[in-house]
This record gives sequence, structure tokens and C-alpha cells, in this order.
Amino acid sequence: MKLNRIGIILIACALAAITLVVTLLVVRQQDSQAAQVRVKGVGLAKSLSGIPVAQLDDGRTTGLLNALLAYHDDGNFAYAAITGADGRTLAEVASRGTMTPHAPLPADAAAGFAEREVPASPAGPALREFYGPMADRSNGIAFVRVGFHQPRFAVLARDVSFLALLALMMFLVVPVIYLLIKREMAPLAGLHDQLRQLAAPEQPAVKADDVRELVTDMQGYLAQAGERIARLELGERNSTADNRLLQYGSKKLNAALHSLPDGLLMLDPGGDVTFVSSKVEPLLGMSADALLGQPVDAWCRDPALRALLARYSGASRDGARPQSVEFASSSVDGRQLCATAQPLSGGQGAMSFGTLVVLRDVTREHLARQAGNDFVAHVSHELKSPLNVIGMYAEMLADSDEESLRVESLNVIQDEIERMNALVGNLLNVSKLDAGSLAPERHRVRLDDLLRDAYDQSMPRAQGKGLHVSLDMPRELDAVTIDKDLFRIALNNLLTNAIKYNRPGGSVALAARNDGHEIVISVRDTGIGIAAPDRDRIFEKFYRVSESGAPAARGGHGLGLYLAAQIVELHHGRIAVDSEPGIGSTFSIHLKSAPAPIGAPVL
Ligand code: ADP
Repeated sequence: MKLNRIGIILIACALAAITLVVTLLVVRQQDSQAAQVRVKGVGLAKSLSGIPVAQLDDGRTTGLLNALLAYHDDGNFAYAAITGADGRTLAEVASRGTMTPHAPLPADAAAGFAEREVPASPAGPALREFYGPMADRSNGIAFVRVGFHQPRFAVLARDVSFLALLALMMFLVVPVIYLLIKREMAPLAGLHDQLRQLAAPEQPAVKADDVRELVTDMQGYLAQAGERIARLELGERNSTADNRLLQYGSKKLNAALHSLPDGLLMLDPGGDVTFVSSKVEPLLGMSADALLGQPVDAWCRDPALRALLARYSGASRDGARPQSVEFASSSVDGRQLCATAQPLSGGQGAMSFGTLVVLRDVTREHLARQAGNDFVAHVSHELKSPLNVIGMYAEMLADSDEESLRVESLNVIQDEIERMNALVGNLLNVSKLDAGSLAPERHRVRLDDLLRDAYDQSMPRAQGKGLHVSLDMPRELDAVTIDKDLFRIALNNLLTNAIKYNRPGGSVALAARNDGHEIVISVRDTGIGIAAPDRDRIFEKFYRVSESGAPAARGGHGLGLYLAAQIVELHHGRIAVDSEPGIGSTFSIHLKSAPAPIGAPVL
């Protein structure tokens, strides 16, 4: 299409648009004028109907109707008349050049106020008439009629400037659009001209160069168009990729937050919950749905935690630092939780996103702390009582010359020193284990001798308590790679417990067997047994089973099994317990057997 033609079309469109706008404006003006006439007509007819007829026309020119004429002479007012029931005009006023038209009122005119169109004269323009019954009926029923000229519609002077401005703007937009189109179409227009020249009949012969030039131009244009399309597609692809990347990033972040071992809660600056990680439900015993959107008071029953979170809502200064509080879980008995609250702010505390609350199960730490405190009290007592005994017997030793008493005193002192020594030794080993400095010196050994030694050592203690002890192991027991001294501690602790927690007349059986690639060493007793909940915890440091609510009556420090388990672990083995309260317990140690390398000595 020729560019000139596009220009003409654009101008035509602009003119059509202007015409449409002007028409709409005029129609709107017409409607508003008609509405004004209606308001005036109805108002005037109603006010006239309330005035006694005699006052409206007193036979003089100063009558109210005449005064009305002067008041309403605004160009639209045509007439006001009072007519009798027979259609006779009783009084009337009319603007210059107008007469009250002779038009009988409809039969229902007495029913109320109405309006109608009446011709000013048989061939004249239409008038709008408003009519209704008079209130004053002293001389029978009469009617009031008020007529107005239909508004003449013309563009008012004040509208002209607005319309001119509108038209100007439209005309200014046209050249801009025209220039833009021209720019976009320029290559096509050039091609069009070239094609026309080639096809012109007066063209003597089409030269190859001309065709080549045309084709080159065409290719250039196509390349340009292709480039533009590719750019658009790339932009779209980029924004889709950005979108996907964003979604991926947010999903990844969400997954990371949910997989954290601690529970996370996010509160908005007002204190309502906006995020709940999956670990919160088992900790608080409340589902994410029950927490989301809720204020702190709705879900938090612990006063300490409530007080902590209150410090973070609003712009309180206290909330600037992370703070922690420990509280007992209201959903699970005995569970202790720790909540750390931290303000979430964007860059130098500029924008506050609310509060991050990290919830952690600290039951173990809490119990360990408690056990640690108990332990200190217990160890002090354990060290103090042998010292008292030693002091007492030392005095007896000093005062007495009797040989048997001196021997007894020496034996007691030696026993007490051994007890203290064992306790201090255990403590030392535990602290070395905790510090990671207990490095086993492992050698390939046969267990036979070690087991027999342990059996021999525990025999007198067991027999002293009236227990039966047995040792059962095959003739050919596979070798294992262990630190003999450390392993002896583990074994002794199991045997000591089997004796200590036994009942009079019971038995202790130490046994070992080959089991595939493993050697299983077991210590079985017929003692008090261990209840299921305690079984999971007896390998914890300082854990002691309370016997019917009271702390274990038999002496102990809650370290023996902890040490045994740690030592077995150092040997890459595992320790297990099988027990039934009132029947007895079996502790078993599983170690990998060490196949003999050629020429290796077995100790
Ligand atoms: P303790 O010094 O108290 O004996 P341990 O770590 O050796 O500490 O044992 C932890 C707890 O496990 C003990 O308090 C005891 O209640 C229980 N326990 C250990 N061995 C046995 C057993 N053979 N029979 C019954 N209870 C046992």
C-alpha cells in the first residue's frame, strides 16, 4: 500500500473519531438540557397548582402569572395557563411570539401531574407541556399548564475551545503514527519501487544487476525482520526461563527450610505465623494449618515463650538481638524444647520482615544437664563415703594393737581405695572419650584368654553374692582386632552390672560364639531386667534407671554402659540389649572377626 494512501486513511480515521466525539458530546448536552427543562416544568406546574386562581390572575398586569413570566424568561419558557374543566383558558401568560396552544387535556389529567408534547401551532415546532390539577377548587376543577420550548441544541462557545483542543491533539497524533509506520515500512516501500521499475513496460530490458540488487534488498529486509522476530522470541524465552528459575529457586529454598533438622516458624511484623516448616508439627504437636495466620497467643501456651515473642513484635528494641528460651512441650510429656527468636530484617535493619523462630528438641541436653548435676552430687557422695570409711579404719589402725582388727582395717581401706580408683578411672576414660583422645591400639588377638581372665576376676564377687557364674565358648574362636585393655573395661562393666543388678541365687553366663563373619560375646543374667523405655537410654552418659520412682538403690554412676558402648563403637562393632523386666537381661557385643593375614602373629 502506498504510504500516501496510509496517510489519507489515518486523516480520515482522525476526522471520523472527532465527529464521533463531538456527536456524543452534543447528545449528552441535549439530554442534560431536556432534564433541566423537565425539572423546571414539573417544579413550576406544581408550585402554580398550590396558589389560589384569584391570586394568579387578579385582572391586572401585576398578577402572579405575569411576575412568573418575567422570572422565567430564559429563552425556553413558552407559556403558563390556568384552564377550566371545559378547556377554557381562565388565565395565561406567554413569552413573546408564543401563544398557549389549544390542545385539550387528556381525560385522566385530574389524576396527577404529567407531561406531553404539543405543537405550538399546526405547523409549528413542538413544545413540552407539563400539566396537573389545581388545588384551589372553589370554582370547580381547574388545571395548570406550563409549556417550554424544546431545547435548541447548539455547540456552546465554552465547548468550542475544548473541542478544538481535542481535534488538535488527534491531528498531532496522526503524523506521529504516520512517521512510525513510514519507518517500519521504508524497506518494503523501497522494494516496491524497485519492483515497479523492473516491471515498467518502458524498461528496455531487465538487467541482472538490478534483479540482484532487488534480491539483496529483499534478503536484507527479511534478515532484519527475522532478527527482530528472533529478538522478540529470545525476550519471551528469557522471561519464561527467568520465571522458571525463580520458581526453581523458591522451591529449592523451601525444600532446604523443610529439611533442616530444627523446626522453623516465621512471624510477620504483627506477630502472625507466615511460615511453618515440617519439623514444627512433631515438636509443638500442632499442624501447619492450625498455626498459619494465627497470632502468638492463639497457639503458644508457654508464658516464657510468649513473653519472648512479645519482645519481637512491633518496633521494640529488645527484639534486636537473638534470644533463646527453654520450655516444656505441652504436647509430649517430658519433652524439653528450646526456641531461639531472631529478627528478620533486610540490610542493616532497614526493612523488617518479622521474626524467625527456631525450635529445637533439647530433651537430651536437658536430661544430660540434669544427670550431670545429679552426677556431681552423686560422685561427691561416692568419694566422700569411702574417705569417711578410710578415715575411720585408719584411726582404728592407729589405736589398735590387735592383729585381726589391723588386718580387717587394712582390707577395708584397700577395698575402698579400689572403689575410688575404679570411679576415678571411669571418669578419666569418659573425659578422654569425650575429648576424642582415647585412641585404641588394636592388635589381632584371640578372645579366649581375655574372656577367661574376665570370668576369673568376676567369679569371687559373684560368688560372694551367691550367684552362679558360667563361661561358654567354642574350642576354635575366631580372632578379632581389638585394644585388649580398652575392651576389658567394656567387658568388666557388663559383668559388673550383671552381678550388681542380679537377685540372690541368680546366675551370670558369659559366652562367645562364631557367627558368620562376626564374633558375638554375650553376658546374660537372671536379674531385675530393664523396661522398654529405659532400654533405649541406658547407653546414654549418666543415665540411670530409677527403681520404682526412686534413684537406683544400687551404687553406680551411669557411666558403665556408656563407656562400654563407646569402646565397642571405637572397635567398629555394635552392642545390643535384650531384656525382660523381672526375668533378666542379655547384653551382646558383635565384633567383626579378623581373618588371618599370612604370617601375622596372633597375640
Ligand atoms: P550404673 O553405674 O548406674 O550401673 P551403667 O551405665 O552401667 O550405670 O548402667 C546404666 C543403667 O542401666 C543402670 O542404672 C541400671 O539401671 C541399668 N542396667 C545396666 N545393666 C543392667 C542389668 N544387667 N540388669 C538390669 N539393669 C541394668
